[in-house]
Formats: sequence, C-alpha cells, structure tokens
Amino acid sequence: MSQADQALVDTLLTTLGNAYAPYSNHPVAAVMECPDGQQFAGSNVEVAHYKGLCAEASAISAMITAGQRELAKVYVMGPGEHLCTPCGDCRQRIREFATPSTQIMVLSKQGEVLKTYTMDSLLPDAFGPEQLPGR
Ligand SMILES: [Zn+2]
Repeated sequence: MSQADQALVDTLLTTLGNAYAPYSNHPVAAVMECPDGQQFAGSNVEVAHYKGLCAEASAISAMITAGQRELAKVYVMGPGEHLCTPCGDCRQRIREFATPSTQIMVLSKQGEVLKTYTMDSLLPDAFGPEQLPGR
C-alpha cells in the first residue's frame, strides 16, 4: 500500500467531514480527477426516504457541471480502514466517463491507497455508451 498525495488526502478528509450521512453514519468522500488535473469532490447526501446520493455521484455531478467529460483518476475514501468500493450504480456512473486507463483508487481514512482498480477490473464487460446505436 502507498500513501496518497497529502493535498488530495486533505481534500478527501474535508469532503468526508462534510458528508451528510445521519442515517447510515457511513460518510464517504470521492474525488474525480480529469486528464487536465482538475479535481471535483463530492460527499454522500442521505435523505429521510433513504434515496440519497452517493459521494461518487455527487463528485461526477460537479465534474459534469464544470463541463468536464473524462475521468483520469477516481479516489474514494470511506470512514475507516475497510475497502469502501463504489456501489454497483456508481460503477456504472464511473464507466460512463472512464477510459481503459482510468484508475479507481480506494483509500483508508489515513490516506493509504488500499486498492487500485482499472475500469475493467471494477466492472468487467460493462455496458457503455459505445454499445448504443450512433455512438
Ligand atoms: Zn454509489
């Protein structure tokens, strides 16, 4: 395991602290990094009817809102030592903007990179935009 860049870890920790997770008590932070190095953070946002928003979806929304369309790196940090991997829905969301070289890294709250995935290892044989007609 390796230690992630401290500025990135600080961003993830701040984002984790801003998560709104009063029901699960499981805050999550994500940072989407684009090929030009721009980063977009997002935290999970829970709501009383349980249909909340994952941190990855939150960060992707910020990225798209800023006009970016491609992911170079994805960082996900959970509240502890366990491997807080993106859920199934978020794997598909990440897939939408990933390339074969996109790296998805899951970090501990201490900033250690616990595991690094490629898109294909995270969501093998995924359905993607190129499978739709006209793409
Ligand atoms: Zn998710």
